[in-house]
Amino acid sequence: MDVYGLVGNPVGHSVSPPMHEAAYEELGMDASYVAFEPLVGEIRQAIGGAQTLGIAGLNITIPFKQDVLELVEPDELAERIGAVNTIEFRADGAPRGYNTDATGVTRAFEHHGVDLDGRKAVVVGAGGAGRAAGFALSDAGAEVHIANRTVDRAIDLASNVSDATGGSLETLDSQVGDASILINATSVGMESDETPVPAESLHSELTVLDAVYAPLETRLLREAAATGASTIDGAWMLLFQGVEAFELWTGREAPVDVMNHALREALDGE
Ligand code: NAP
Repeated sequence: MDVYGLVGNPVGHSVSPPMHEAAYEELGMDASYVAFEPLVGEIRQAIGGAQTLGIAGLNITIPFKQDVLELVEPDELAERIGAVNTIEFRADGAPRGYNTDATGVTRAFEHHGVDLDGRKAVVVGAGGAGRAAGFALSDAGAEVHIANRTVDRAIDLASNVSDATGGSLETLDSQVGDASILINATSVGMESDETPVPAESLHSELTVLDAVYAPLETRLLREAAATGASTIDGAWMLLFQGVEAFELWTGREAPVDVMNHALREALDGE
């Protein structure tokens, strides 16, 4: 049996196990997906132990995504983002590290028929999800503006993303006005009815993706939909980071619909 898993702390409420196990069942694979919760500070031992035990692949989540970078051979995108959320163990070499949060963002737009090339995109947030979104959108040809509560983080990120600009949340109104893509990559709206983007700046030409997936219908998406904007909820990003990890690990095409159904059922039960 191939064993895959998620490493984070905490991981108690993760919806990744049912999403991946639905794919194994659909494809008749002898595989299992387990959530592991090492102590903060013991990630090196956890990754070394996983390699020794023959674990096939791991997803990595908070608070370990940055720490894992130096424990693996990151691909070029993960290296630029500065974080790894997917590890592939190999019998004949160091584990490979990837950032499928980034591909999760672009694949979510692609799935909804949204072309990013040449579009102006505003990313709100400059933490892990903001970094992944910023690099992914720029690589897809978008012109990126990053807005963040801590302005220095936005400016620092923008200086590393090709042709990007950075600024404060106060400039959001003018930046969103002529944008066609908007991403919330902050934790604002998680388990609360708050939004980081003033409703007045939203408009019907936008496609809005919220990385927050609890709840699925955030205040930002509700207010965006009310203006006639298109919306993409956080489960799509979560789905496609998982789909991408599955495909990296197995070399097989993921059963996207089955994984989406299992993911949404698990989120419903939360
Ligand atoms: P993180 O690294 O801790 O970054 C948090 C971000 O939120 C920072 O930009 C922070 O700004 C901002 N922020 C926090 N509280 C704020 C407030 N009250 N007002 C304005 N900005 C605030 O977290 P992360 O890993 O990027 O995760 C961010 C969100 O994305 C979380 O909700 C997470 O669940 C979600 N996420 C979703 C997926 C998915 O697949 N759907 C994947 C990854 C993450 P400062 O820099 O000023 O602190």
